[in-house]
Amino acid sequence: MNKYIYRPILLLLISLNSFSQIDLVFDIDYTIVSEIKFGSQSNMIPINEEGKVVNYILTPWALEVLDSLYEMDEVRISFFSGGSRDRNEKLLKEIILPTSNRSLWEVSHKVLSREDLTPITKSTASSKWSDRYTKDLHKINEDLSWLIVIDDNLNFYQGNQLENVFWLEEGYLPFPSFKASKNIQNQNRANLKNEWFAPSLHQFEAEKSKLLRFHDRFSQILDHAKEKMTSLKESLLSITRDQNGQRITRVSLEEVRSVQNAKKYLINKYEISPHYLGPCQKFLSD
Ligand SMILES: [Mg+2]
Repeated sequence: MNKYIYRPILLLLISLNSFSQIDLVFDIDYTIVSEIKFGSQSNMIPINEEGKVVNYILTPWALEVLDSLYEMDEVRISFFSGGSRDRNEKLLKEIILPTSNRSLWEVSHKVLSREDLTPITKSTASSKWSDRYTKDLHKINEDLSWLIVIDDNLNFYQGNQLENVFWLEEGYLPFPSFKASKNIQNQNRANLKNEWFAPSLHQFEAEKSKLLRFHDRFSQILDHAKEKMTSLKESLLSITRDQNGQRITRVSLEEVRSVQNAKKYLINKYEISPHYLGPCQKFLSD
């Protein structure tokens, strides 16, 4: 067969076989937004929850990362959050993607909420929320081989479904600077929990870059799946685990490079000045 005819046919076969549909399922709290518990910040998203106003702020780069993923033909975006359906709907309607000018609520394939969590039978009333309920990913798609869920909390997943999780690692409360975070933590108020605060500047910065880290890893996972003709789930495991099957965490030098690559790509794509201090970028140092 003539090679000029053969190549498009081969590419078509690969795309039909492997890339008919990719499900990216995002958690909401400490993944795409965080609640502001102390003080106020610019670009807050106030949401009325059962008569009380709760202020949220977008995770740095959330808009650019979600927008760029939504623009990909093979990607379908869903949300699965332990928040109430009413809260999730209000919040997702407030977040507008820059290219399509549509809200996250409008572009989502599915939005699953507290009402869609599955109770764990062995749990006790005193267990943590995420130990009492699980997010069953089959509610998004029966076939999990082309699905990745992006979440800061691994406790919501059980058994084989843990293999579908791209873990963002522990989240901290959102502060405009590490200094501001330390100032509040040093007040030693009785209601403060240490786990809310980044223990070091490095951890603080890494937290602000978590969605960049996912964006870069996702493109590596796609390339790997195309090259090796494996499922997305197999490629996710290959790219994010070491030889012993342990998750690679965000502290390695390679991760830092990875974040810088994703940042350069998005700055280019969205024509953002590297010095821009807009709603999403203002926490990230150059
Ligand atoms: Mg979360």
